Amino acid sequence: MTEMLQKFDVIVIGAGAAGLMCAARAASRGRSVLVLDHANKAGKKILMSGGGRCNFTNYYVAPDKYLSHNPHFCKSALKRYSQWDFIALVDGYGIAYHEKKDGQLFCDNKASDILNLLLSECEQQGVHIRLNTRVAEVQPVNDGLYRYLLKAEPVYKAEGRAEAGQQDEDYALQCESLVIATGGPSIPTLGATGFGYDIARQFGLKVYAPRAALVPFTLTDHNKVLSSALSGTSLAVEVECNDQLFADDLLFTHRGLSGPAILQISSYWKDGDSVSINLLPGHDIAAELRQLQHSRPKVRLKTWLAELTTQKFAEQWLAGLFRDDILLADLSGADMDAFAQGLHQWQVKPAGTEGYRTAEVAQGGVDTDEVSSKTLECKTRPGLFFIGEVLDVTGHLGGFNFQWAWSSAVAAGEYV
Ligand SMILES: Cc1cc2nc3c(=O)[nH]c(=O)nc-3n(C[C@H](O)[C@H](O)[C@H](O)COP(=O)(O)OP(=O)(O)OC[C@H]3O[C@@H](n4cnc5c(N)ncnc54)[C@H](O)[C@@H]3O)c2cc1C
Repeated sequence: MTEMLQKFDVIVIGAGAAGLMCAARAASRGRSVLVLDHANKAGKKILMSGGGRCNFTNYYVAPDKYLSHNPHFCKSALKRYSQWDFIALVDGYGIAYHEKKDGQLFCDNKASDILNLLLSECEQQGVHIRLNTRVAEVQPVNDGLYRYLLKAEPVYKAEGRAEAGQQDEDYALQCESLVIATGGPSIPTLGATGFGYDIARQFGLKVYAPRAALVPFTLTDHNKVLSSALSGTSLAVEVECNDQLFADDLLFTHRGLSGPAILQISSYWKDGDSVSINLLPGHDIAAELRQLQHSRPKVRLKTWLAELTTQKFAEQWLAGLFRDDILLADLSGADMDAFAQGLHQWQVKPAGTEGYRTAEVAQGGVDTDEVSSKTLECKTRPGLFFIGEVLDVTGHLGGFNFQWAWSSAVAAGEYV
């Protein structure tokens, strides 16, 4: 076995959105920077993001788009490196993009445009990136400026595999600043781990228990039968839970409910809560039915509901409620009120969520009270930094999570 000792000013663990951005910024200040990642490719989540088009920021970034035990924490970094700064960087690379809706900016072409931008920034600044590398140990040292000692090894060796033509090299690395940018545990198949939380705990820092967020709901009750039958149907809805309301699309799935409205509310939902869904926002169904009893009495309820939604929805929703051929004229006042309430306040009690398998982010993470909001440096451990999703800062859907990655990365990159 060979063991080499290499010294860098800065080591960043995690070659994702925040890690690459921070590395480039630190290197632009003349710091020697090494980025380590256990994956065989940098920025895998970037490549998967936004349906392959990366929703890289939002025109309307604001602190109230983030959940955290300390809602003020994100303000400083977001202000100092804003969406406009990242948009200017994207413009500088001539990357074509568009606003999809509500300020959400997506690449016209591919998410790889954003990853290539980051890799290009790193290359120009002389950042070293070492992939397929597992960090086995992190220890504080007392050696002048060099404060952290890392033991690293190739992933294939850690997995007990032999790799043709490769030596079983263990690396001993030292750095003055260690940046943890390993993200959260959502989508483990993309290389996501709870490594950052382990490091935080190793250094005695508080970690809020992570849980899946921006994630579809699973159902088990009678609503599952309905959702499954409607799988693939999408409706523009309003969904409410714990004093939060989102207006966006809902998608019925075989397992339950998905779509942007559901992903958004999932960040506010807790086990056992019900969510209230207005399936026809912008309508007053009871009043409309009363009026239609005069203007279109011979029209079937099913026909009319299909006009407002879809044929499939009308069939499935009415099954068991009314006989198939019931006319608008046949409805009593009580029928109309109950029917309207069912559509405007559909009560759903999710059995759970699809979990980290499909969640876009993990909520919770390293307590922000442990780090400076200006530099992202740990208050009790000089030279140790946490950036990006590993921290207890979770954005709404719509480009807010990447903006947090960019902003927190730059704040640390200016200081490491
Ligand atoms: C499917 C999907 C789509 C998304 N779409 C969007 C979107 O369009 N817009 C948006 O704003 N957000 C989106 N997100 C969320 C966004 O991807 C994350 O918030 C963001 O990537 C977090 O950046 P990060 O740098 O903190 O972590 P990541 O980008 O996850 O990077 C972490 C890196 O650390 C590495 N790593 C992990 N553990 C270890 C370890 N033990 N040792 C070494 N390396 C390790 C990983 O391999 C990875 O490269 C999406 C997420 C998913 C899963």
